Formats: sequence, C-alpha cells, structure tokens
Amino acid sequence: LKNFPYSHILVLGLAKSGTAAARLLLQNEKHVRVNDKHTALDDPVVQELTAMGAEVITGSHPLEVLDGIDAIIKNPGITYDMPLLQEASSRGIPIMTEIELAGSLADTDIIGITGSNGKTTTTTLTAEMLQKGHQPVKAAGNIGYAASEAAQALEKDEKLVLELSSFQLLGINRFKPKIAVLLNIFEAHLDYHKTFENYKNAKSRIFINQTTDDYLVYNADNAVVAEAVMSAESVKIPFSLTKRLNEGAWADETSIYYKNEEIIAKRHIALAGDHNLENILAAICAAKLSGASNEAIADVLTTFAGVRHRLQFVTNLNNRLFYNDSKATNLLATQKALNAFTQPVILIAGGLDRGNEFDDLKPYLKNVKGMVLIGETQDKLARTAAEAGVDSIENVYTMADAVKQAYNLSKDNDVILLSPACASWDQYQTFAERGNMFIQAVHTLV
Ligand code: ADP
Repeated sequence: LKNFPYSHILVLGLAKSGTAAARLLLQNEKHVRVNDKHTALDDPVVQELTAMGAEVITGSHPLEVLDGIDAIIKNPGITYDMPLLQEASSRGIPIMTEIELAGSLADTDIIGITGSNGKTTTTTLTAEMLQKGHQPVKAAGNIGYAASEAAQALEKDEKLVLELSSFQLLGINRFKPKIAVLLNIFEAHLDYHKTFENYKNAKSRIFINQTTDDYLVYNADNAVVAEAVMSAESVKIPFSLTKRLNEGAWADETSIYYKNEEIIAKRHIALAGDHNLENILAAICAAKLSGASNEAIADVLTTFAGVRHRLQFVTNLNNRLFYNDSKATNLLATQKALNAFTQPVILIAGGLDRGNEFDDLKPYLKNVKGMVLIGETQDKLARTAAEAGVDSIENVYTMADAVKQAYNLSKDNDVILLSPACASWDQYQTFAERGNMFIQAVHTLV
C-alpha cells in the first residue's frame, strides 16, 4: 500500500466494498477494526474477518470504536452527519472510501469515470475498446466489483477502469486517475449532498489530485461541467456533440471524429440514443489517450448493443426490434429512451407508485402508438397515455402478458420497448430481475 501511512484502520459498514477493504487491509498487515450495525456476529463474513485478525463490533456504533484509530474506510452510502463520523472529524481522523485503497494498491494507469448519468455505459465501452485493442483491463468500482479488490487482483500491465460515484469521490485523499472523465452534472442526490454546489464539488474531486501529466476528459456541451473543470491542472480534453473541435472527440450530422480523424459513421453505431453518443465520445477520448487504435474503437461501436437493462437491444423478431431499458426507474430516463427512436414504439411501462404524476411524459409519446401497462402506476399512466392521444392502452399483470400484448399491437419495423419510468419493487426484487423477465418473455414469444 503506497501513500497510505495509516496502521490502525476502522472499516465502517460491511457491504461488498467494506468486506473487500477489510480483507485487503488485513492482508497488508494493518490492524483492522470493523463496525457494522446490521451484520450479526455469527455471519460468515464476520467469522472470516475475525479469523484473519480483525476486531469486529456489530449492533451499534459506540464512539469508543474510534479509540486508537488513525484512519476510517467507510461505506460510500454512509452520510457524514452520522454522530460517529462527526466525532471522528473532531478528533482529526481522516475519513475515506475504499477508492483510496484502490489508488494506493494499483501500480498501473487508472481511468476514472464519473457523472450524474452514463457512468456504467461509458466505463463498459472504454474497457471494451481497450480490450479489443489487446490492452488487458479490469472494469470496477460503482459498477459492482469493488475497486480495491480489482486493484489487488490486477495482472502485470493490466489497466484499471473505474466507475466512480460522487459518494465514493468524497472519500478520496491522494487518489488520482491518470485519465479522468467527467460526463455531465445534473441535479441529483440532493438528499445526501444537501446543495448542488456540494454535489458539483464532489464530482470535481475526480481531478483534484491530477497534475500536468494527467488528462481530464470533459463534456464541453454541459455548462456546469465546463465551468467546473476550469480549476483543473491536468491537460483538458473536451468532447462535444454540437461543435467541431481541434482536440478531443466530436460529431457532425453523419460521423464521429477524434481530432481530425473520422472514427465511424453514425449509421454503423449499434447503440441507440443521443445520450449514448455523448458516452461514446467520452469513451473514445479515454481509449485514444490510452493508445487504442481507431479500428479497435470502431469495431466495438459496431457491435456493442448497450449494457444490460440500459436501453439494451435484445433481438429483432419478425421485424420488431425489442429493447430492454428496465434501469429506467424514473421519468427522465424513459424520456431519454423514447427520444432515441423515430419509428413507431409500443411502450411497456409502469411499476412502483412513488406518488408522482406522469404529465411530463406526454410530449415524448408522439411516436408511441401503444402502451402496455404493468404495476401500481397502471391507472395513472393509462390516464397520461389517453390524454396524449396514444391509440391503444392495455393493462396487464405479468411481464409475459405485457410482451404478448405489445407484440399483438405491433407491426413491421416497430420498436417494442420496456422503459418503465418507475422502480420495480412493487412486483420484482430489482430492476435487473424485471429486465430478465422481459428478455425471457421475448425469447419465449417464438
Ligand atoms: P449510471 O451508471 O450513471 O447510472 P448508466 O450508463 O447506467 O448510467 O445509464 C443509466 C440511464 O441514464 C440510462 O438508461 C439513460 O436513461 C440515462 N443516461 C445514460 N447516459 C446518459 C447521458 N450521457 N446523459 C443523460 N442521460 C444518460
């Protein structure tokens, strides 16, 4: 562990990342105390860590767990107003997330990607582009594989591509990516960050430790981002969907370019939606700066059909194009998805009722000729659909019926899109389960 001058560490929160952090701190001969409210002492993970030498305190967060501690690695979801962390601050104990450990373990170039939306897509695209060009990489972080675990498992010459959330970035100290990517900053997570300024500052931490040898890829079309990056020391590489650039990646009506080289014609890109073009431009910048060839990049773009459950192309069945956008758990995401299509759409939507109305969906329903509705919000969405003049509106109970009905309403060249605009928890464990049911139902249509 380089640049990690601490010996007695408190790991706060035992989710996936806390467990990974505790394990690798123990393997690196640190004294580790673990504190978690909900995990029981006889939990297998607790037993494993205890056997490795950790002291584990569960059930509550007494202030004494701070005694003798010189650094804290906390779960990113834990907010700083927790009394234990307030006490730690007043004692001057540094509070970090396991991203700091990843940076301290990885003896390789790190590509760090953040933004309000598009992180997973851009992280996956970038990793695929490097891999296609025979550069081994691990993709980790917020994407579901703990960053520090990946960092410790790196093979020689393997690079690390990290998806980073604002919560994770708040807990860095010396961590810096060789290439940072800042996709966009929209109003989000204000329950955690309190103000937009705080949220913007958290995102900006991705470049805070960068120097003139490092690169910062940023969205020149996003005013908040363009302003935020002004204070960065690193070499700034812009991308833009709206203007021609001498540096970085850009697009015109027909093609995508890096500096003055054409990378690919837009009609050959498999991924749908203008928002994904932004993610593509960002990934191209990161991949080019890492030495990927134009051929490798173009190859990925002609085949990459989306991350699972994010406007993911499923199949073409009897000239109907099926898309799974189960991750669209709010109105904004479904608006983006509908904007991606110019042909007629049959939309499958509905889910958990959070009390909101769906009026803001109406302007996006112009190409939607049928809606098949599931879940608690069925009736609300049916009203919205009727007011927007959607021809056919059907209520069903199961995903299998939704797919059948949607198919019955469709004609040649139509899109059948699952983009629920609602969370899944009224009927499913997760959005992934919902998306998998959709895919399964599509494949059993034949
Ligand atoms: P994240 O990891 O940041 O949540 P994802 O790549 O998983 O982002 O995409 C989640 C959803 O966010 C997508 O289904 C889409 O609706 C929306 N989205 C993706 N990329 C962008 C973008 N560049 N700008 C705006 N919205 C986007």
